[in-house]
Amino acid sequence: MTEPLLEPVPTFVPLLGPEVHEAVSKALEVGYLGLGPTTAAFENALGDWLGLEDRFVAATNSCTNALHLAALLAGAGPGTEVICPSLTYVAAQQAMTMTGATVVFADIDPVSLSVDPARVAALVTERTVAVMTMHYAGCVGDVAGLYAVAAQHGLRVIEDAAHALGSLLPDGRLVGADGDLVCFSFGPVKTLTTLEGGAILTPSRDEDVLTRQHRMLGADLDLDARKANPRFWDYDVVRQGYRHHLGTVPAAVGLAQLSSLDAQIARRRTYCQDYDARLGDVAEIRPLGFDWDRIGPFLHAVRVDPDSRDELVLHLKAQGIGANVHWAMGVHTFSFYADSPRDDLSVTEEVCKELVTLPLWADMPERVRDRVVAGVRGFYGA
Ligand SMILES: *Cc1c(COP(=O)(O)O)cnc(C)c1O
Repeated sequence: MTEPLLEPVPTFVPLLGPEVHEAVSKALEVGYLGLGPTTAAFENALGDWLGLEDRFVAATNSCTNALHLAALLAGAGPGTEVICPSLTYVAAQQAMTMTGATVVFADIDPVSLSVDPARVAALVTERTVAVMTMHYAGCVGDVAGLYAVAAQHGLRVIEDAAHALGSLLPDGRLVGADGDLVCFSFGPVKTLTTLEGGAILTPSRDEDVLTRQHRMLGADLDLDARKANPRFWDYDVVRQGYRHHLGTVPAAVGLAQLSSLDAQIARRRTYCQDYDARLGDVAEIRPLGFDWDRIGPFLHAVRVDPDSRDELVLHLKAQGIGANVHWAMGVHTFSFYADSPRDDLSVTEEVCKELVTLPLWADMPERVRDRVVAGVRGFYGA
């Protein structure tokens, strides 16, 4: 008799309950699958959930493309520079260099893992137009310090909030409810998924209009005005545009998920606290030390002894547990970015050797979490 195979434990599992299936069937029956009222409804619901006042949300087909739209608003293009973290997903840099801009890598704070405002200030040149921060594992870091540096040098701030849906700013508002250009991801593994998708939040109606033109081929498409206009086929194209909009079916998936998002985030917080409590006494492990009650946790990582980090990941993998590393190397180490200007990145390089991501889903049975904890403790003999 062979042992039954252990049930695999993926790193991320999307929560697609019956309400999502129902929403997809309904959306497919609408007949019109493009950019329309369902996308607008998702944008409105997301704006309400985030508590937006005088800020504007446009849904996109990815966070990468939302970041591209942010780069355009910031005036990124050939001859300009955008200061970025290196501990992030390369989508962020690709979105900037898509415009022809140069990325400049800044080092991170060793505790928050966000770009260090003082290091950013030292990298500003006359070509700098924007600084990007990424809220690693949902932690916002020193946003006040970063906005102060940006204000001092007249820079736009781009927040890559792909990990931070449901995280709180220092004043208690949700990430996105305040700030400059904030981008979310609704990709396949993210806290809220539209299968693929994202959103950009902008601080003015003019920039929202511009963003909507950019996302739909430069067309001057005021949907309300077009509905009222009997000559709806009549529209102008006013600028270079892209095809970055979110369609009807993904928007319906997002809308359905919003209804359970608070409960999902609450459970994710509990799981993160539980991991930290149950692994905190293992000598080789350092929890990130984040206050999960202020975070909408997308991923849960710990910092481990770098000498055996890779073996730990392989040990867990052998037990069917999908541990992962976000990220094993900074974006500055990729050959495409070899010529990009950079700070001394020793904090980033150290941190990249220590990080391990443990499985985190919206609805994770206790026996699955027990297996992850036992697997990690077993590796260290703890
Ligand atoms: C997922 C992710 C992105 C890209 O999001 P997409 O929606 O897949 O384009 C960007 N930045 C970070 C930090 C991410 O985790």
